[in-house]
Amino acid sequence: MPNDFCPCAPRAQFEPHDLADGLSARRCPKCQSVVLALKDYLPWIERHYSDRPTAEPAPMPGRETPSKARLCPSCQRVMARYRTGDANSFWLDFCPICGIVWLDGGEWELLEQSGLASYLDIILTERWQKNIQSRRTSSFRDDLLRERFGAAFSEILRIRDWLNRQANRHDILAFLSESSSDKKKK
Ligand SMILES: [Zn+2]
Ligand SMILES: [Zn+2]
Repeated sequence: MPNDFCPCAPRAQFEPHDLADGLSARRCPKCQSVVLALKDYLPWIERHYSDRPTAEPAPMPGRETPSKARLCPSCQRVMARYRTGDANSFWLDFCPICGIVWLDGGEWELLEQSGLASYLDIILTERWQKNIQSRRTSSFRDDLLRERFGAAFSEILRIRDWLNRQANRHDILAFLSESSSDKKKK
């Protein structure tokens, strides 16, 4: 790689580091950031996790890191950001040109704890990212509704679930809205 230095400090030089058995990366001895090449990661997955089950984004242990652009340590272009999970997730930085993932100190360990260390390439897919986006949108909507309806919200959800199970739900809804507008007129 053309640039062997971490931007965290002058002359902080990346050193070879084994993230896991048979998985080499480079790590900055000063800030513990890790630079991992997909060309090293993908064969490791192939060897150890060829039959990994499908995973879905979930809340992550740890912290929500602020969104701050990072430059690729190799080509100096702005890296793309990818959310790892729903709540409390951190962002992975990825340079598609160099095929390298940037992990801040401790982030690999967080991925391991949440069982996502073997899903880095999946996290970088559009499908994973869209999935997270739609889950975040619906939880945001639920928060707004909870604010609007207060304590009644959980009751409303219960009634909605019940309604959705009724074959004649349209009739029930029509009846309900009829009877409530009758009341208004009185
Ligand atoms: Zn560093
Ligand atoms: Zn790059």
